Amino acid sequence: MEDAMQNIVSLAKRRGFVFPSSEIYGGLANTWDYGPLGVELKNNIKQEWWRRFVHRRADIMGIDAALLMNPKVWEASGHLKNFQDPLVECRMCHRRFRPDEIGGISEERPGSWTVPPCPNCGLNEWTDAVQFNLMLKTFLGSTEDAANIVYFRPETAQAMFVDFKNVMDTMHPRVPFGLAQVGKAFRNEITPGNFIFRTREFEQMEIEYFVREKDWEEHFEHWLEEMKLWLKDLGVSEKKLHYVDIPDGERAHYSKRTVDIEYEYPFGQEELYGLAYRGDFDLQNHMHESKVDLTYTNPEDPKDKFVPHVIEPTWGVDRSVLVAMLEAYHEEQAPTARSKSSGQAEEGESATRVVMKFPKWLAPVKVAVLPLSKKDSLNRVAKSLHQKLSERFVCEYDETQSIGKRYRRQDEIGTPFAVTVDFETLEKDDVTIRDRDTMKQERVKIKDVEKTIEKKLYA
Ligand code: ATP
Repeated sequence: MEDAMQNIVSLAKRRGFVFPSSEIYGGLANTWDYGPLGVELKNNIKQEWWRRFVHRRADIMGIDAALLMNPKVWEASGHLKNFQDPLVECRMCHRRFRPDEIGGISEERPGSWTVPPCPNCGLNEWTDAVQFNLMLKTFLGSTEDAANIVYFRPETAQAMFVDFKNVMDTMHPRVPFGLAQVGKAFRNEITPGNFIFRTREFEQMEIEYFVREKDWEEHFEHWLEEMKLWLKDLGVSEKKLHYVDIPDGERAHYSKRTVDIEYEYPFGQEELYGLAYRGDFDLQNHMHESKVDLTYTNPEDPKDKFVPHVIEPTWGVDRSVLVAMLEAYHEEQAPTARSKSSGQAEEGESATRVVMKFPKWLAPVKVAVLPLSKKDSLNRVAKSLHQKLSERFVCEYDETQSIGKRYRRQDEIGTPFAVTVDFETLEKDDVTIRDRDTMKQERVKIKDVEKTIEKKLYA
């Protein structure tokens, strides 16, 4: 199973999706950079999410808040006091771990853990568990004193509560309505790892959906359904997903229902997304700390005033990328990897075809334009077609190596369509369009290529 992870990590590096960060300086542990294809993939996820939940809905608006906020925000939200994980240290090798992540079991007595031997040195000599705060600190201004401490936000959510009044005063929304935000969050994780699954800098897509208390269950069900549909469209197989209702006693005290959406990663079943009913906990806390009234007044009935309750669906961007890559990865052996139109091996093919079967909307490159040979006459036509198609789709132009190798490369990065300009093109003004999944090729007139691809992509 670990191989599945290795396949993704190495394809990500080899094909320009995700690189180890600062690699020429030896890297920075568990820090990753998105390369030219990774950024396209990640942007597709964020843009589709925004289109679906902000642009296509009349009841949700977006914000883009600062990463650094007044530290009082984190006092009010409880993060400075409570945003902590248990930490144990191996007395022998001094490596630190979150006990639950290395198979530790929490005992009845709070703070007490039974922990298996150290995954690093194999000895079983642990310090007592201590609570470690995950907030990442820095200083604003020229002096590094306590008055200048600020924190990188550990979630995008709080800004939606803090900006609640400004949004109400300027946009006058009617409950139910939501605020959405996509952006970076930072956590000083004790045990980062598993590629982009758990990092200290990551991205979230979050919605705070404000409702009347009596309606919370109906909205909770709606969001659960929306998250399921999103996962389906991301190409995630239902059988690997688990919707875990967090039982009483394990949920945050203010939440009447929380569902963790977990996925069977190659390294085990872990959280992918979350959905929580947070009551009016956050708005009440900010109202109390800031002394600013955050009560909602119904614009149609000024006597109808209340503090809205909140349903919070939250999506990790990087975990979405990881899961999309894990689901898309396929290895096919010959003869499946033969061109279905001719039954012939594609020239230059290897015995195994690695193909990323991303849903088409998600693929970082939609069309590759490939002249069959480096002949000027073919290149001229191919370049002009590439130029034209680039107005509409993310396209690549590639004239290096054999056509078979070029098809394999496009398969590996998940490009749904390859358009090949060959010698017949010069006579008949047509090209072949090759389908990534079936490897079938069809001849299409140059003037119809754009329309045909458009139809195939968005059918
Ligand atoms: P976990 O239990 O895995 O630590 P969490 O319950 O702390 O996650 P939330 O606070 O609910 O996570 O954050 C919302 C979402 O943000 C998660 O569902 C996940 O997709 C993403 N996320 C959280 N922490 C990280 C991280 N360190 N690296 C990458 N993504 C993360």
